[in-house]
Amino acid sequence: MPSNKTMRASVLVDVGRLELRDVPFPEPGPADVLVRVRAVGLCGTDFHIFAGHSNYNTDERGAVVPLNKQPQILGHEVVGIVEKAGSEAKGLSPGDRVVLDQGLNCVSANREPICEYCATGDSHQCAFYREHGITGLPGGLAEYLAIPAVNAIKITSDIDDAEAALTEPLGCILHSSNMASRARSRYSLREQASNDRIRSVLVCGAGPAGLLFVQYLRNVAGYDGLLMVSEPNKKKRDLAAQFGAVAIDPAATDVVSAVSELTAGRRADYLIEATGSGKVLSIIPQLIRKQATVLLYGHGHVGVDMSALNGIMFLEPTLIASVGASGSFDHDGRPVTYRRALGLLEEGKVQVGRFITNRYTQLKAVPGAFAGDSSSPEYIKGIVLL
Ligand SMILES: [Zn+2]
Ligand SMILES: [Zn+2]
Repeated sequence: MPSNKTMRASVLVDVGRLELRDVPFPEPGPADVLVRVRAVGLCGTDFHIFAGHSNYNTDERGAVVPLNKQPQILGHEVVGIVEKAGSEAKGLSPGDRVVLDQGLNCVSANREPICEYCATGDSHQCAFYREHGITGLPGGLAEYLAIPAVNAIKITSDIDDAEAALTEPLGCILHSSNMASRARSRYSLREQASNDRIRSVLVCGAGPAGLLFVQYLRNVAGYDGLLMVSEPNKKKRDLAAQFGAVAIDPAATDVVSAVSELTAGRRADYLIEATGSGKVLSIIPQLIRKQATVLLYGHGHVGVDMSALNGIMFLEPTLIASVGASGSFDHDGRPVTYRRALGLLEEGKVQVGRFITNRYTQLKAVPGAFAGDSSSPEYIKGIVLL
């Protein structure tokens, strides 16, 4: 029986318009848990949706559903406390602290047989995929969220809520790096033959993603070769250097010459595009070696036309595209990528506390984060703590 109970949520009612509203209280099913939200990371994807640059809520025909027709509660990097566990919800009880995989796939839905994407460990490409906080389903910028229990991973350490909220972004780095290592490419990180081993990496952009890539390469993948980061913001550049990269300021130096100099004319074997900037896309041909690997991680790329691809295509790179923290399923149906990412944060192999710059303690502070704070030079990562 549906109740008339409501909860508070920060709702994106139209492009650029967030409102604090009373919305229906979530009704968890028997295999679900009801989670009281504790921390939500604000992410580039949220900012893109807010600004109207993207909208991933589509109808059965694939047409975009406008926000003024179906408002969106954003928030897909979520940590919370289990308030209630359904009768068939396994492995969790009230009071457990959890990090969520916001994506609903065949295993979340208990679908039999599972689709071809779920069967190959690509849960976020599930043929029936839907995503809390992104594709229309309510996200974490609310008091509560109901989600299948298999989408919730119990946190057993004392990791800070805000840091644990970086599980999803780190999961995206793990997934995209996995996509790169699955691809057949001329150069690879693990290649034994020294000619084909990646000897120079260029990460474009040291926002949260770039800073996670640097730490992943150094501390997880064990990459000890030349690691360059190009980033105009000083604060981000300094952090990238502290995490083990050679930082280049594209506002002060010509990136193309800097990369050429650092690599003795060889250029980058592996370029990770983590800015989403169209301008960066257009200079990729001058930054990479022939048949390099290019990981297109950042989304956006406004401001350049498709001819930017010509110069890239001429060099025959292996182009990798990735989205989300996709992965396979653990023995208990829970997402492997999220579990691994959480573990890396708990072990301190990847440190995120140093770039969480903004903490918001109320839902009503959310519009301020979107409207102004995120464009400040001091801002790197914002977390809403409830
Ligand atoms: Zn995100
Ligand atoms: Zn599936």
